Amino acid sequence: MPLFTLVAGARPNFMKIAPLIHALQKKQREGIALEFRLVHTGQHYDKNMSGDFFEQLNIPAPNANLGGGGGTQAEQTAAIMVAFEQELMAHRPDLVLVVGDVTSTLACSISAKKLQIDVAHVEAGIRSGDLSMPEEINRMVTDSITDHFFTTSEIANNNLRNAGVPENRIHFVGNTMIDTLLAQMPHFKKPVGKPFDQLQAGEYFVMTLHRPANVDNEESLRELMEAILDGTAGLPVVFPVHPRTAKNLERLGIAAPNLHLISPLGYLEFNHLVQHAKGIITDSGGVTEEASVMNVPCLTLRDSTERAETIHLGTNELVGTDPKNLGPYLAKILADSWKQYKGIPLWDGRAAERIVDILLQHYH
Ligand code: UDP
Repeated sequence: MPLFTLVAGARPNFMKIAPLIHALQKKQREGIALEFRLVHTGQHYDKNMSGDFFEQLNIPAPNANLGGGGGTQAEQTAAIMVAFEQELMAHRPDLVLVVGDVTSTLACSISAKKLQIDVAHVEAGIRSGDLSMPEEINRMVTDSITDHFFTTSEIANNNLRNAGVPENRIHFVGNTMIDTLLAQMPHFKKPVGKPFDQLQAGEYFVMTLHRPANVDNEESLRELMEAILDGTAGLPVVFPVHPRTAKNLERLGIAAPNLHLISPLGYLEFNHLVQHAKGIITDSGGVTEEASVMNVPCLTLRDSTERAETIHLGTNELVGTDPKNLGPYLAKILADSWKQYKGIPLWDGRAAERIVDILLQHYH
C-alpha cells in the first residue's frame, strides 16, 4: 500500500493541501488502498495564520508537527530539514508531496530527495525571474530535484520544458488553491463587528502586503500607503495585516478614518470581503488568483509576477512598487472600466482529483 507524506507549513499552503487531502480521503472511502501522513512544519503557527485554516478548510490534525517556526531563512530551513529527515526515517513514505514556494517546500524536498524518496511538487514551474524573492529561490531549488511536476498553467509547463524537464514528468492539472476557493465559496461569511458592518458591497477596497520589497523599508511603505489613501476616493480600505508587516506599519503610525488595519482574517471571511470588494491591492500571489476567479479588479504591487495568466486572462494588473504608478489604475477601478475574467484553463475545482489519479497510476 503506498504511503504519501504531505507537507504544509505556512498560510498559503493550507488552501493548496486541503483539496488533496479530501481527494485522498475519497479514494480511501472508495476502498483504494493508500495511506497518507500530513506533516505541519510549524513555519506559521499562530492561530490566525494556521490553526483557523485547519478548522475552516476541514483539514485533519497533522500526524506530526515539526515546530520549525521562527529564525532567519537559513535557521528555519535547517530546523525544518533536520526535523523532517527524522520524520521520514521514522515513517518512510513512497512519495513526499510539497506545495507552493515557501521555506518548508524547499527544506522538505531536499530532505526527502537526499533519502532517495520521490518528490512531487504542486504548483511547479512558475517563475518570476526575480531572485531577490525568497520564494523564487524556493521554487527553483525544489523544481531542480522534483520527480513529478504538477502545474497550474501552460506558462509553467513551458518554463519546465525550457529547463529540460521531460514531458512525461510534467502534469498540467490546474490549481488546487482554486479548488479550495470554488469548494468554499458557498460557505464564505461576512465578518461581523467594526468595521465590517459599515461596508457596502462594491464600495470598499481590500489590501494585503507582506513582501520584503514593499514592507521592510519604512519610507517606501509610507509612500505606498499614502498613494493608496490618495487614490481610493475615501472609500474604506480594509487591510488585514500580515505579521511580517505589522511592526513597520505600527511604527509609521499611519492613520486615516477610512483605513482599517485589522488582524489576519479567516479564509471564509477574507474571501467574502474580496468577493464583494470594489478592488484589491496586494503583493500576494494567491490573492491575485482568487480575485481573478471571482472577477474582482486586482492591482499587484510588484515589478514581476510568476502568475502571468492572472494578467492575460484574469483581472490582475502589475502596477510595480513605485507608488506613483498607482493613481491611474485606481481611477480606472473607480470608473468601473476594468477588464473581465476570461477563464483560466483547468482552474475548475478538480486539480486535486487529477493529481491523486496520476499519483495512483505511479504508486499502488
Ligand atoms: N488570506 C486569508 N486571510 C487574510 C489574508 C489572506 O485567509 O487575512 C488567504 C488568501 O485568501 C489566500 C492566502 O491567504 O488564500 C494567501 O496567503 P499569503 O498572502 O500569505 O501568501 P502568498 O499567496 O503571497 O504566497
